[in-house]
This record gives sequence, C-alpha cells and structure tokens, in this order.
Amino acid sequence: MIGSAFRTVYVRVLVTFTTLLLIGLVGAYVQVTSTERRIVDQVVSEQTSLTQQLIKVFARQVSTRMQHLEQTTFLLSDLSIVQFFLLEEDSEDVESLGNLVLDVFQNVLISNSYVMSLRLVSLDGYTRIKITPLETEKYDVSTKRDNIRIYNYFPYIKQISMNEVGVFIGDSYEHEEPHIEVVAPVYDGFLPLGYVVQTVSVGALVAEMLEFTGKSDAFLLLLSEDGHYLFGEHGELTFDQQPFTTLYPNAWKHISQRTTKAAVSTPQIIHDQGVRFVVRPLDVEFDNLGVYRSWLVAYFTDDKVAALSASEQAHLTTRMTMFMLVVVVIALLIAWWTYRRSLMLDLSFMAQAAMRSMSPIVLMDRQQHMLNANAAFLRLMGMTSESSKGQRLSSLLNERDRVALEKIWQGLTKEPSWKGELKFTNCQGTPVEGLFQIFPLESRRKKIIGYVGSWVDISEQKELERRLRNLTITDALTGCKNRRYFDKELQMLFSNLKRHSDQQFCLAIADIDHFKQVNDAHGHDVGDEVLQIFSSVLVRETRDLDIVCRVGGEEFAILLPNTSLNDAALVMERVRKTVATVSHAGHSITCSIGLADSNDAADEESLYKQADQALYLAKENGRNQVILHH
Ligand code: GH3
Ligand code: MG
Ligand code: MG
Repeated sequence: MIGSAFRTVYVRVLVTFTTLLLIGLVGAYVQVTSTERRIVDQVVSEQTSLTQQLIKVFARQVSTRMQHLEQTTFLLSDLSIVQFFLLEEDSEDVESLGNLVLDVFQNVLISNSYVMSLRLVSLDGYTRIKITPLETEKYDVSTKRDNIRIYNYFPYIKQISMNEVGVFIGDSYEHEEPHIEVVAPVYDGFLPLGYVVQTVSVGALVAEMLEFTGKSDAFLLLLSEDGHYLFGEHGELTFDQQPFTTLYPNAWKHISQRTTKAAVSTPQIIHDQGVRFVVRPLDVEFDNLGVYRSWLVAYFTDDKVAALSASEQAHLTTRMTMFMLVVVVIALLIAWWTYRRSLMLDLSFMAQAAMRSMSPIVLMDRQQHMLNANAAFLRLMGMTSESSKGQRLSSLLNERDRVALEKIWQGLTKEPSWKGELKFTNCQGTPVEGLFQIFPLESRRKKIIGYVGSWVDISEQKELERRLRNLTITDALTGCKNRRYFDKELQMLFSNLKRHSDQQFCLAIADIDHFKQVNDAHGHDVGDEVLQIFSSVLVRETRDLDIVCRVGGEEFAILLPNTSLNDAALVMERVRKTVATVSHAGHSITCSIGLADSNDAADEESLYKQADQALYLAKENGRNQVILHH
C-alpha cells in the first residue's frame, strides 16, 4: 500500500520535474535567440510612438509660432519707425531704430528656445535685421542677401494677406538643421512694408521630445530626406560633417528605395558594416505646403547584440537556477501532497473495508468505551449503532472474563496486542464465544488514544474440535469412553489423589462370561449387539459421575470417583444383577466384576492389576459375581 504510494509519488515528481524543466529550457532558448528581435520590436514601438508625438508637437509648435508672430507683427506695425526703417534703405538712424526692433525681437526669442532666428525682411527680399540666440550683433544690414534668390518660399509669401501667417518648410541651405520658416507680413494700414520671418528649429523640437523617451538598447538619429544627419544620439557611430549617405551607402540605398508606406508597415533591419538600422519615416504634413519628410533611424551594432545576448544569458543562468529551485520545491510539494493523499486514500479504503468487513470490529476510547463499530460487530452483540456508543466492552462479559479483560488492558501498555478467547453474553442474552484481538491505537507521540477490538467467530471450530476430541476418546461400537480416555482419566484421578488424600476412588473391571460362545453360536454381529446392550446396562446402572470405558474386546473398566470400596461394591452388585436379567437372541448373559480401591494401590498400574486379579478370582469362582480386592 505504502510502496505503491511511493511509486506514484516517484512517477509524479519525475513527470512534473521534467515538464517544468522542458518549459524552462524552451523559454531560455527563446529568450537567448530573440535578443535582436526584442531590440527591433522595442525600437519599432518607440519609433512609432515617437513619430506620432513629434508630428503632434510640430503641429502645435507651428501654430504657437504663428500666434507669436501675429503678435510680433502687430507690435511692429504699430511702430512707425519700422515703416521708415523698411522703406529707407540707408537711414542714419538705422542703429537706434534697429535697437527698438531688436527689443521686440528679443522678447520673442527669449520666450522660445525653438526659435533659431528672427528676421525683418523688406519687400524686395533684403534682410534688414536678424537676430539669433548666439550672435552678439544686434542687427545685420550689411549682409544684404538676396533672400528671394536663396529661399524657395519667397514666391509664395506675397500671397499671404494681412493678419495672416504663412508656414514654409525651410531647406538646409543656410541652417544646418531642418527648420520651418514662419512668415507674417508687416503692414502700414493696408500698405505692405515687409516681412517678419521666424525660423523654428525642427531638431530642437525633436531633441526635446527624445529626452522624454525611455532609454532603449538602440540609438536614435534623425536624417533629413536627402540623407544628412540632422541630430540624435551618436552612440557608437560618429557623423561629424559627413552625410549618412557617404558613411553607410548600402543602408542609404535601402532607405531611399523604400516607400514611406512600406517602411511603416514592415520595419526592416538593414545591415551595413556591422551595424543594424531600423528606419521609420517621419512625415509632417502642412496645409497647402505638402509633406515635411525625414527619417527616424534607430541603430545598434553586432557587438551590442552580442553583449546584450551575453548579459541576458548570464541573467538567464541566475533565473534558471531560481526557476529550478522553484521547480524542485513545487515538485517536492506535489510529491508530498500526492504521498499524503494516496496514504489518506489507502486509509479511507481500509476504513471502508473495516466497516464492511464480515469480521466484527469495534473502536474504543482510552476508557474502553465503544466509539464506533461495524455492522458485523453490532449484529453479533445485538446492538444498534446508538446503543453501542459509550458502552464498555466488559459489560458484555461474564464476571471471570471481565477480570481477565482488566488484566489485558493493563498488559496492553507494554504489549503491542492481545489475542485470546473471551465469552460474551450479547444484548439479547445469547452467549457469544470467540477469539478476540485487541490492539492499542497510538498517537504520533506514541500515546495510547484508543483501542481496536476485532473478533473472530470460532463457535463452529469449537464444535468441530469438541466432536473430534469426543471421537478420539469414544469407543465406536458402544459409544462409551475408550481405552485412551480411561488411561488419562485414571492418571488424573491418581494425581488428584496425591494432592487431596480424601479424593478416594474405585476401579471395577467387568467382563462378559463365556462371550466366545455368543460369537460362536450366533455370529459376530450378534456378539456386537450383546456388547452394545451390555455397555448400555453398565452406563445406566452406574451413577452419572462414574465413567464407563471399554478397555478390551468385551472388557469394560468403570471408574467410580469419590466412592468407598463398599459403596462401589453395592453399585457393581446392582450392575451384575441387572446384566443377569438380560438376554439377547435367546441367549442370556452374565458378567464377572473385579473391584479395587485406590487407597490400596500405589499407582495406576497396580490398581488396574488388583482389579484384574479380583476379576480373575470371580471367573475362577464360577463367574457371575463381584469380587473385591483385599
Ligand atoms: P470367560 O471370559 O468367561 O473366561 O470366557 P470368554 O469366552 O468371554 O473368554 P475370552 O475373554 O477369552 O473371550 C473373549 C472373546 O470376545 C474373544 C473374541 O472373539 C470376542 N470378542 C472380542 N472383541 C469382540 C468384539 O468386538 N465383538 C465380538 N462379537 N466379539 C468380540
Ligand atoms: Mg475377556
Ligand atoms: Mg469374557
């Protein structure tokens, strides 16, 4: 039972352990092989959210710029000097006028870090004043650039009407960074005087956005549409003034060939010189102006992937160790649980078996009160389940066995169990005899907490035993006791006599006279019948406590316990007389009897001899008489 529980546990532990181990190993394999995939997934999701944010910020910033510029031009339009300044090319007061304009510009510049420059441009395209955050010069009239020729948006700004602001995508001709030109015309009344041009840095916007994104395993770059490095984290690569197109021609070939749509839907890893690039287009669409295109590029090197894989593997070893420990603990817990469960199951099966068993079983507490008993026990003792509860087992025993049982309980503190025969009288008054086994139930701390009694019905065996024993001591022909019984009984009476001298007894030997003649005249069968009749007379005419035994062919010995020789002679004389009245098959029989007293003999043998000698004398004297040995 326990062996099978252990086997089940063993198998379960093995299965659990192997399954969890396999899951762990598969997980580990997937983890290690997917470092590159993980980085790419991370990059793609970062790029996606970044571009969405950037597009939003662009749009917001542009609209903010527009509002600012509206305010600026409104302020400037109010200054009649600006009008003069923009119309009069070579004014003497240009410096003082310029200072006034600069004050206005300064406020705008300070209020926003994305503004790269502010310019006041005349209608004919000359920059009158320019201010940047870095330059110390407050205005610039000497650089009379031909803005119309330089800036591609000039043909369009004439279309901007009063109180409107135009937004244009600037090329990187003058500025190294990508930028947006926000332009608003300055009016005197309804007369256009020139333009205020604000250059907003795209890079600064994006850079600020990048600061808010989490640190990823890849580095991020922004490339212009034509493949120039705009800004970003350099990481392991350096761009300096070199365009991306020259540094990584292969990668650029891939990027430039990709359409925007394809690049968004299936981000690819592009390999070039040990570097992997993941590219996503960053397109900002402006009303009427088309799309501002740039490439958001994430990159990581082969070395980086290898290093990450190695560190992940190292982590994994630790994690696997922890995992295995957990697996072992889980497996052990399952094992313990399974083991306990199978034990409990086995026990419950055993309990069921005990309750249904045909052998009577009773459970008792420490004071031997019955707690529970199976149906067989209740039936045997004529009780119900209720009436049995609390009753003591000893209440069903007779006085002698009750004392014995008390001794048994005491012995059970030392002995593991007791087995023996007890005679009960059940609740219906029927005697119940059986083999009883009692063993104590022990707690884990080896304290006796109760007892179990089981009972085996041996009444049939007892009966059989009795019959067998009777057979071995009974004479088959006559039904009286045989020679073997006689020998034992004689021996017992003698040993009794040795202890109690008053336990005197007599022995008589009775022999049929001329029995041979009966056999000869009527046959052996009739002889047998005569023997049966003779023995029945012997039994009938002697007392109940006298023992009649057939000790030879037609020779019977009669033991007369607690009888004096005179009393015995009276009994035997009565026997002789009665035999003499008996006839069978026309043949009357007589018998001769020799009688001896136990007090006159030293032992069994001499007593028998004395009786036999007396019988011999009776035969000698003419038979049909009783002779006492003297
Ligand atoms: P007596 O005792 O008077 O001297 O004469 P007896 O004829 O009885 O002599 P004995 O005791 O020598 O003979 C006993 C006879 O009993 C011998 C045998 O044939 C017969 N006998 C012994 N056992 C049985 C038996 O079981 N059945 C029958 N029918 N006869 C038996
Ligand atoms: Mg004889
Ligand atoms: Mg005889």
